[in-house]
Amino acid sequence: MTHPLSDRISSLPVSQTLAMAAKARELKGQGIDIISLSLGEPDFNTPDFIKDAAIEAINQDYNSYSPVDGYVELKEAICTKFKRDNDLVYQPNQIVVSTGAKQSIANVAQVLLNPGDEVLLPAPYWVSYSAIAILCEAKFIEIPSSIDDDFKITPAQLEAAITPKTKMVFFNSPNNPSGSIYSEKEYRALAAVLEKHPQIYILSDEIYEHINYGVKPFSFAAIENMFDRTITVNGLAKAFAMTGWRIGYLGAPQWIAKACTKMQGQITSGTNCIAQRAAITAVLAPVEKVQYMVDEFKTRRDLVLDLLGEIEGFKLNIPEGAFYVFPDISAFFGKTVHGMKIENANDFSLLLLEKANVATVTGDAFGAPNCIRMSYAASVVQLKEAIQRIKEAVS
Ligand code: GLU
Repeated sequence: MTHPLSDRISSLPVSQTLAMAAKARELKGQGIDIISLSLGEPDFNTPDFIKDAAIEAINQDYNSYSPVDGYVELKEAICTKFKRDNDLVYQPNQIVVSTGAKQSIANVAQVLLNPGDEVLLPAPYWVSYSAIAILCEAKFIEIPSSIDDDFKITPAQLEAAITPKTKMVFFNSPNNPSGSIYSEKEYRALAAVLEKHPQIYILSDEIYEHINYGVKPFSFAAIENMFDRTITVNGLAKAFAMTGWRIGYLGAPQWIAKACTKMQGQITSGTNCIAQRAAITAVLAPVEKVQYMVDEFKTRRDLVLDLLGEIEGFKLNIPEGAFYVFPDISAFFGKTVHGMKIENANDFSLLLLEKANVATVTGDAFGAPNCIRMSYAASVVQLKEAIQRIKEAVS
Protein backbone atom coordinates (compact mmCIF):
# COMPACT_ATOMS: atom_id res chain seq x y z
CA MET A 1 0.00 0.00 0.00
CA THR A 2 1.29 3.48 -0.79
CA HIS A 3 0.86 6.02 1.95
CA PRO A 4 -0.22 9.54 1.06
CA LEU A 5 3.13 11.16 1.80
CA SER A 6 3.99 14.56 0.38
CA ASP A 7 5.94 14.87 -2.86
CA ARG A 8 8.55 16.67 -0.80
CA ILE A 9 9.43 13.70 1.38
CA SER A 10 8.93 11.19 -1.40
CA SER A 11 11.54 12.92 -3.53
CA LEU A 12 14.05 13.13 -0.70
CA PRO A 13 16.82 10.52 -0.67
CA VAL A 14 17.70 8.85 2.63
CA SER A 15 21.00 10.03 4.14
CA GLN A 16 23.45 7.31 3.06
CA THR A 17 25.85 8.02 5.93
CA LEU A 18 23.10 7.54 8.51
CA ALA A 19 21.55 4.62 6.60
CA MET A 20 24.84 2.73 6.51
CA ALA A 21 25.44 3.42 10.20
CA ALA A 22 21.94 2.12 10.98
CA LYS A 23 22.53 -0.98 8.87
CA ALA A 24 25.82 -1.66 10.70
CA ARG A 25 24.06 -1.25 14.06
CA GLU A 26 21.28 -3.61 12.96
CA LEU A 27 23.73 -6.31 11.83
CA LYS A 28 25.71 -5.94 15.05
CA GLY A 29 22.42 -6.35 16.94
CA GLN A 30 21.99 -9.68 15.13
CA GLY A 31 25.32 -10.80 16.56
CA ILE A 32 27.35 -10.22 13.36
CA ASP A 33 30.84 -8.88 14.02
CA ILE A 34 30.62 -5.73 11.91
CA ILE A 35 33.34 -3.09 11.95
CA SER A 36 31.71 0.18 11.05
CA LEU A 37 33.82 2.69 9.16
CA SER A 38 30.68 4.36 7.90
CA LEU A 39 29.86 7.25 10.21
CA GLY A 40 31.99 10.35 10.58
CA GLU A 41 32.03 10.44 14.33
CA PRO A 42 35.06 10.80 16.64
CA ASP A 43 35.41 7.75 18.89
CA PHE A 44 36.69 9.91 21.77
CA ASN A 45 34.79 11.05 24.83
CA THR A 46 33.88 14.71 25.09
CA PRO A 47 36.75 16.33 27.05
CA ASP A 48 36.14 16.63 30.81
CA PHE A 49 36.44 20.43 30.88
CA ILE A 50 33.43 20.65 28.54
CA LYS A 51 31.43 18.03 30.42
CA ASP A 52 32.11 19.96 33.66
CA ALA A 53 30.74 23.13 32.08
CA ALA A 54 27.54 21.27 31.14
CA ILE A 55 27.15 19.86 34.65
CA GLU A 56 27.62 23.33 36.07
CA ALA A 57 24.93 24.67 33.72
CA ILE A 58 22.50 22.02 34.93
CA ASN A 59 23.30 22.86 38.54
CA GLN A 60 22.80 26.54 37.78
CA ASP A 61 19.31 25.66 36.56
CA TYR A 62 19.68 26.45 32.90
CA ASN A 63 16.44 24.86 31.81
CA SER A 64 14.40 27.48 29.98
CA TYR A 65 14.15 28.37 26.32
CA SER A 66 17.21 30.20 25.12
CA PRO A 67 16.98 33.05 22.59
CA VAL A 68 16.23 31.48 19.19
CA ASP A 69 19.64 32.41 17.77
CA GLY A 70 21.54 31.35 20.91
CA TYR A 71 22.71 32.87 24.19
CA VAL A 72 24.43 36.20 23.68
CA GLU A 73 27.47 34.96 25.67
CA LEU A 74 27.83 32.05 23.24
CA LYS A 75 27.46 34.31 20.21
CA GLU A 76 30.14 36.62 21.65
CA ALA A 77 32.40 33.61 22.26
CA ILE A 78 31.87 32.52 18.64
CA CYS A 79 32.85 36.02 17.45
CA THR A 80 36.03 35.72 19.53
CA LYS A 81 36.73 32.33 17.96
CA PHE A 82 36.14 33.62 14.42
CA LYS A 83 38.60 36.46 15.03
CA ARG A 84 41.16 34.21 16.74
CA ASP A 85 41.13 31.31 14.27
CA ASN A 86 39.84 32.74 11.01
CA ASP A 87 40.61 36.43 10.98
CA LEU A 88 36.90 37.09 10.51
CA VAL A 89 35.21 39.99 12.27
CA TYR A 90 31.57 39.14 12.95
CA GLN A 91 29.25 40.89 15.40
CA PRO A 92 26.97 38.82 17.66
CA ASN A 93 23.95 39.85 15.54
CA GLN A 94 25.59 38.01 12.61
CA ILE A 95 25.77 34.71 14.49
CA VAL A 96 23.05 32.03 14.69
CA VAL A 97 23.49 28.92 16.83
CA SER A 98 21.59 25.85 15.66
CA THR A 99 21.00 22.15 16.31
CA GLY A 100 24.14 21.01 14.53
CA ALA A 101 25.88 22.46 11.49
CA LYS A 102 23.37 20.45 9.45
CA GLN A 103 20.57 22.73 10.64
CA SER A 104 22.73 25.81 10.02
CA ILE A 105 23.16 24.69 6.40
CA ALA A 106 19.48 23.82 6.01
CA ASN A 107 18.49 27.23 7.41
CA VAL A 108 20.70 29.07 4.93
CA ALA A 109 19.38 27.05 2.00
CA GLN A 110 15.79 27.62 3.09
CA VAL A 111 16.20 31.37 3.36
CA LEU A 112 18.17 31.91 0.14
CA LEU A 113 16.89 29.39 -2.40
CA ASN A 114 13.77 29.64 -4.53
CA PRO A 115 12.41 26.76 -6.61
CA GLY A 116 14.46 26.43 -9.78
CA ASP A 117 17.56 28.17 -8.39
CA GLU A 118 20.80 26.37 -9.08
CA VAL A 119 23.26 25.32 -6.39
CA LEU A 120 26.79 24.37 -7.38
CA LEU A 121 28.27 21.41 -5.54
CA PRO A 122 31.95 20.74 -6.16
CA ALA A 123 32.08 16.95 -6.00
CA PRO A 124 32.72 14.99 -3.91
CA TYR A 125 30.37 16.73 -1.48
CA TRP A 126 28.72 15.78 1.78
CA VAL A 127 25.54 13.77 1.23
CA SER A 128 23.11 16.22 2.80
CA TYR A 129 23.99 19.21 0.60
CA SER A 130 22.14 17.78 -2.37
CA ALA A 131 19.24 16.61 -0.22
CA ILE A 132 18.88 20.04 1.36
CA ALA A 133 18.85 21.63 -2.11
CA ILE A 134 16.14 19.15 -3.17
CA LEU A 135 14.04 20.14 -0.15
CA CYS A 136 14.22 23.74 -1.37
CA GLU A 137 13.12 22.60 -4.85
CA ALA A 138 16.41 23.96 -6.12
CA LYS A 139 18.50 22.19 -8.69
CA PHE A 140 21.92 20.98 -7.63
CA ILE A 141 24.67 20.94 -10.22
CA GLU A 142 27.70 18.76 -9.57
CA ILE A 143 31.14 19.99 -10.57
CA PRO A 144 33.18 16.81 -10.83
CA SER A 145 36.76 16.30 -9.71
CA SER A 146 38.86 13.19 -9.49
CA ILE A 147 41.51 11.70 -7.29
CA ASP A 148 44.12 12.85 -9.81
CA ASP A 149 43.14 16.48 -9.08
CA ASP A 150 43.26 15.77 -5.34
CA PHE A 151 39.47 16.07 -5.52
CA LYS A 152 39.55 19.83 -6.08
CA ILE A 153 37.83 21.85 -8.80
CA THR A 154 39.49 24.50 -10.97
CA PRO A 155 38.36 28.10 -11.57
CA ALA A 156 37.61 27.17 -15.21
CA GLN A 157 35.25 24.41 -14.07
CA LEU A 158 33.51 26.79 -11.69
CA GLU A 159 33.11 29.40 -14.42
CA ALA A 160 31.69 26.82 -16.83
CA ALA A 161 29.07 25.67 -14.32
CA ILE A 162 27.66 29.14 -13.63
CA THR A 163 24.39 30.17 -15.30
CA PRO A 164 22.07 33.15 -14.69
CA LYS A 165 20.13 30.83 -12.34
CA THR A 166 23.10 30.06 -10.07
CA LYS A 167 22.32 31.32 -6.58
CA MET A 168 24.73 29.47 -4.32
CA VAL A 169 27.93 27.47 -4.27
CA PHE A 170 28.92 25.17 -1.41
CA PHE A 171 32.56 24.87 -0.40
CA ASN A 172 33.78 22.44 2.25
CA SER A 173 37.41 22.44 3.29
CA PRO A 174 38.70 20.21 4.83
CA ASN A 175 36.34 18.17 2.73
CA ASN A 176 34.01 15.37 3.73
CA PRO A 177 34.56 12.80 2.15
CA SER A 178 37.94 13.49 0.47
CA GLY A 179 39.87 15.21 3.28
CA SER A 180 41.24 17.72 0.74
CA ILE A 181 41.97 21.28 1.82
CA TYR A 182 41.85 24.28 -0.52
CA SER A 183 44.84 26.59 -0.07
CA GLU A 184 44.36 30.34 0.23
CA LYS A 185 45.71 30.68 -3.32
CA GLU A 186 43.24 28.12 -4.69
CA TYR A 187 40.33 29.79 -2.88
CA ARG A 188 41.38 33.22 -4.15
CA ALA A 189 41.41 31.89 -7.71
CA LEU A 190 37.85 30.57 -7.27
CA ALA A 191 36.83 33.88 -5.68
CA ALA A 192 38.13 35.73 -8.75
CA VAL A 193 35.53 33.85 -10.79
CA LEU A 194 32.75 34.56 -8.30
CA GLU A 195 33.63 38.25 -8.27
CA LYS A 196 32.18 38.46 -11.79
CA HIS A 197 28.88 36.94 -10.63
CA PRO A 198 27.58 39.02 -7.70
CA GLN A 199 24.27 37.12 -7.53
CA ILE A 200 26.01 34.03 -6.12
CA TYR A 201 26.26 33.37 -2.37
CA ILE A 202 28.92 31.13 -0.92
CA LEU A 203 28.34 28.66 1.88
CA SER A 204 31.67 27.71 3.41
CA ASP A 205 31.32 24.62 5.60
CA GLU A 206 34.32 24.59 7.96
CA ILE A 207 33.19 21.89 10.37
CA TYR A 208 36.50 19.93 9.99
CA GLU A 209 38.64 23.07 10.43
CA HIS A 210 40.62 21.87 13.44
CA ILE A 211 41.14 18.34 12.11
CA ASN A 212 44.02 19.03 9.79
CA TYR A 213 47.48 17.57 9.56
CA GLY A 214 49.68 20.59 9.30
CA VAL A 215 47.93 22.64 6.61
CA LYS A 216 45.82 25.27 8.34
CA PRO A 217 42.55 25.68 6.40
CA PHE A 218 41.74 29.12 5.04
CA SER A 219 38.28 30.63 5.55
CA PHE A 220 36.61 31.70 2.32
CA ALA A 221 35.01 34.74 3.99
CA ALA A 222 38.50 36.06 4.79
CA ILE A 223 38.77 37.09 1.13
CA GLU A 224 37.96 40.80 1.44
CA ASN A 225 35.31 41.14 -1.26
CA MET A 226 33.70 37.77 -0.45
CA PHE A 227 32.86 38.50 3.20
CA ASP A 228 29.48 40.07 2.45
CA ARG A 229 28.45 37.13 0.25
CA THR A 230 29.71 34.26 2.37
CA ILE A 231 28.06 32.27 5.11
CA THR A 232 30.63 30.56 7.33
CA VAL A 233 29.30 27.39 8.97
CA ASN A 234 31.03 25.55 11.78
CA GLY A 235 30.17 23.52 14.87
CA LEU A 236 31.50 21.56 17.80
CA ALA A 237 30.78 17.98 16.77
CA LYS A 238 34.02 16.97 15.14
CA ALA A 239 36.89 18.80 16.87
CA PHE A 240 35.44 18.49 20.36
CA ALA A 241 33.93 15.00 20.04
CA MET A 242 30.44 16.39 20.66
CA THR A 243 28.41 14.91 17.81
CA GLY A 244 25.37 14.14 19.94
CA TRP A 245 25.35 17.53 21.67
CA ARG A 246 24.12 19.11 18.43
CA ILE A 247 25.73 22.53 18.38
CA GLY A 248 26.36 24.17 15.02
CA TYR A 249 26.64 27.84 14.21
CA LEU A 250 27.07 30.30 11.38
CA GLY A 251 28.44 33.74 10.76
CA ALA A 252 26.72 35.64 7.94
CA PRO A 253 25.62 39.05 6.70
CA GLN A 254 23.11 40.26 9.24
CA TRP A 255 20.13 40.04 6.87
CA ILE A 256 20.85 36.35 6.32
CA ALA A 257 21.38 35.68 10.05
CA LYS A 258 18.08 37.41 10.78
CA ALA A 259 16.24 35.32 8.20
CA CYS A 260 17.79 32.10 9.59
CA THR A 261 16.62 33.09 13.07
CA LYS A 262 13.10 33.60 11.73
CA MET A 263 13.19 30.19 10.05
CA GLN A 264 14.56 28.45 13.14
CA GLY A 265 11.97 30.20 15.31
CA GLN A 266 9.23 28.36 13.44
CA ILE A 267 10.94 24.98 13.33
CA THR A 268 13.05 24.22 16.42
CA SER A 269 13.61 27.43 18.46
CA GLY A 270 16.93 27.88 20.26
CA THR A 271 18.95 24.70 20.57
CA ASN A 272 19.58 22.78 23.80
CA CYS A 273 20.41 25.23 26.60
CA ILE A 274 22.85 22.97 28.49
CA ALA A 275 24.82 22.17 25.34
CA GLN A 276 24.96 25.89 24.53
CA ARG A 277 26.41 26.78 27.94
CA ALA A 278 29.05 24.06 27.56
CA ALA A 279 29.76 25.32 24.05
CA ILE A 280 30.90 28.68 25.47
CA THR A 281 33.70 26.86 27.29
CA ALA A 282 34.51 24.73 24.22
CA VAL A 283 34.79 27.50 21.63
CA LEU A 284 36.89 29.70 23.93
CA ALA A 285 39.28 26.87 24.86
CA PRO A 286 42.72 26.99 23.26
CA VAL A 287 42.71 24.67 20.27
CA GLU A 288 45.75 22.88 21.76
CA LYS A 289 43.40 21.33 24.31
CA VAL A 290 41.96 19.02 21.67
CA GLN A 291 45.16 18.51 19.69
CA TYR A 292 45.62 14.99 21.17
CA MET A 293 42.64 13.81 19.11
CA VAL A 294 44.03 15.34 15.92
CA ASP A 295 47.40 13.71 16.59
CA GLU A 296 45.72 10.36 17.01
CA PHE A 297 43.70 10.82 13.80
CA LYS A 298 46.93 11.56 11.95
CA THR A 299 48.53 8.35 13.22
CA ARG A 300 45.48 6.43 12.06
CA ARG A 301 45.40 8.16 8.69
CA ASP A 302 49.01 7.17 8.06
CA LEU A 303 48.31 3.60 9.15
CA VAL A 304 45.21 3.32 6.94
CA LEU A 305 47.03 4.73 3.92
CA ASP A 306 49.91 2.28 4.45
CA LEU A 307 47.65 -0.74 4.82
CA LEU A 308 45.21 0.13 2.04
CA GLY A 309 48.16 0.95 -0.21
CA GLU A 310 49.09 -2.72 -0.08
CA ILE A 311 45.78 -3.77 -1.63
CA GLU A 312 45.81 -3.89 -5.39
CA GLY A 313 42.96 -1.89 -6.91
CA PHE A 314 42.81 0.78 -4.18
CA LYS A 315 43.94 4.13 -5.56
CA LEU A 316 44.58 6.66 -2.80
CA ASN A 317 45.41 10.31 -2.35
CA ILE A 318 46.71 11.78 0.89
CA PRO A 319 43.90 13.52 2.77
CA GLU A 320 45.16 16.59 4.61
CA GLY A 321 42.26 16.82 7.03
CA ALA A 322 38.97 15.37 8.34
CA PHE A 323 39.00 11.66 9.21
CA TYR A 324 38.12 9.90 5.99
CA VAL A 325 39.94 8.18 3.19
CA PHE A 326 38.21 8.15 -0.16
CA PRO A 327 39.87 5.52 -2.34
CA ASP A 328 39.05 5.19 -6.01
CA ILE A 329 38.08 1.54 -6.38
CA SER A 330 36.94 1.66 -10.01
CA ALA A 331 39.66 -0.93 -10.86
CA PHE A 332 37.22 -3.52 -9.49
CA PHE A 333 34.35 -2.54 -11.79
CA GLY A 334 33.44 -5.31 -14.21
CA LYS A 335 35.04 -7.99 -12.02
CA THR A 336 33.36 -10.77 -10.11
CA VAL A 337 34.57 -11.17 -6.54
CA HIS A 338 33.35 -14.10 -4.40
CA GLY A 339 30.50 -14.59 -6.82
CA MET A 340 29.41 -10.94 -6.57
CA LYS A 341 29.52 -8.91 -9.77
CA ILE A 342 30.97 -5.45 -9.11
CA GLU A 343 29.44 -2.90 -11.47
CA ASN A 344 29.82 0.21 -9.31
CA ALA A 345 30.77 1.61 -5.91
CA ASN A 346 27.45 0.51 -4.37
CA ASP A 347 28.23 -3.09 -5.28
CA PHE A 348 31.73 -2.75 -3.90
CA SER A 349 30.51 -1.29 -0.60
CA LEU A 350 27.99 -4.14 -0.39
CA LEU A 351 30.74 -6.67 -1.06
CA LEU A 352 32.76 -5.26 1.83
CA LEU A 353 29.72 -5.41 4.09
CA GLU A 354 28.77 -8.96 3.17
CA LYS A 355 32.15 -10.61 2.66
CA ALA A 356 34.35 -8.61 5.03
CA ASN A 357 31.74 -7.40 7.53
CA VAL A 358 33.09 -3.87 7.13
CA ALA A 359 30.65 -0.98 6.69
CA THR A 360 31.73 1.87 4.38
CA VAL A 361 29.72 4.44 2.39
CA THR A 362 29.43 4.36 -1.39
CA GLY A 363 30.93 7.31 -3.23
CA ASP A 364 27.71 7.63 -5.21
CA ALA A 365 26.16 9.33 -2.21
CA PHE A 366 28.87 12.02 -2.44
CA GLY A 367 28.65 12.52 -6.19
CA ALA A 368 31.82 10.46 -6.80
CA PRO A 369 30.76 7.10 -8.21
CA ASN A 370 34.31 5.64 -8.50
CA CYS A 371 35.04 5.84 -4.79
CA ILE A 372 34.03 4.62 -1.37
CA ARG A 373 34.36 6.50 1.90
CA MET A 374 36.00 4.93 4.92
CA SER A 375 36.07 6.76 8.23
CA TYR A 376 39.16 6.18 10.32
CA ALA A 377 37.52 7.52 13.46
CA ALA A 378 37.85 4.01 14.86
CA SER A 379 40.50 2.32 17.04
CA VAL A 380 43.82 1.16 15.58
CA VAL A 381 42.89 -2.43 16.42
CA GLN A 382 39.59 -2.09 14.53
CA LEU A 383 41.23 -0.38 11.58
CA LYS A 384 43.89 -3.07 11.23
CA GLU A 385 41.31 -5.83 11.49
CA ALA A 386 38.94 -4.11 9.02
CA ILE A 387 41.64 -3.64 6.39
CA GLN A 388 42.91 -7.19 6.82
CA ARG A 389 39.37 -8.45 6.22
CA ILE A 390 39.00 -6.21 3.17
CA LYS A 391 42.30 -7.51 1.81
CA GLU A 392 41.14 -11.10 2.17
CA ALA A 393 37.72 -10.34 0.68
CA VAL A 394 39.07 -8.72 -2.49
CA SER A 395 42.23 -10.76 -3.08
N1 GLU B 1 28.68 14.21 8.95
C1 GLU B 1 28.91 12.87 9.38
C2 GLU B 1 29.17 11.95 8.20
O1 GLU B 1 29.30 12.39 7.09
C3 GLU B 1 27.77 12.41 10.26
C4 GLU B 1 26.59 11.79 9.59
C5 GLU B 1 25.81 12.78 8.79
O2 GLU B 1 25.16 13.62 9.39
O3 GLU B 1 25.90 12.67 7.59
O4 GLU B 1 29.30 10.77 8.41
